[in-house]
Amino acid sequence: MASFNASSNALDFLRGCVVDFDPETGLSKTAQTGKRRLSQMKGMFQDEAAREELSRHGDPVVYEFHSLPLPETPGDLAFGCSILNPGKVGDEYFFTKGHFHTILDTGEVYYCLKGHGYMLLEDPQGDWSAQELSPGKAVYVPKRYAHRSINVSATEQLITFFVFRADAGHDYGTIETKGYRKLLVEKNGIPTIVDNPNWKRG
Ligand code: ZN
Repeated sequence: MASFNASSNALDFLRGCVVDFDPETGLSKTAQTGKRRLSQMKGMFQDEAAREELSRHGDPVVYEFHSLPLPETPGDLAFGCSILNPGKVGDEYFFTKGHFHTILDTGEVYYCLKGHGYMLLEDPQGDWSAQELSPGKAVYVPKRYAHRSINVSATEQLITFFVFRADAGHDYGTIETKGYRKLLVEKNGIPTIVDNPNWKRG
């Protein structure tokens, strides 16, 4: 018995639900799943020719996310797991698309369950940082910062659990059109921050 409630209906989700997330796989029997394949990330990697080549040959799943279909109402929290596969496009590690929140003044927490990677943060004024993710570490994404997770392991998935205000909304378009100012690439076997030559100002 996972919980005790006066009644059992959809509102139980909003007043003390228990959701399963496997700490080894990030998978859930309760949450809904979304997938992003490499073909859905056109123009987002530095080496577009390499991305297209990989898309045509196998089109790997770059990442999955599992979250609940809860109402996006003020005062509630949205949460779920993100599962980012290992892989590279050219020398650039697999990453999630990354987003600002539509309500820009929204923080978020990512807690790393498995793997090794970074959370790349960038605000509209150009301040940026890359925070390391390893099991047991929680990264706080401050208000106003776009966030993208990056998997630097060659073999292991990067699994993180995230929580943010449910009505925050996602702005993927800004990153899709402008890109990040910085990229994380592998140089001599080491994760290295470089300027993004394709970053579009303004
Ligand atoms: Zn977010």
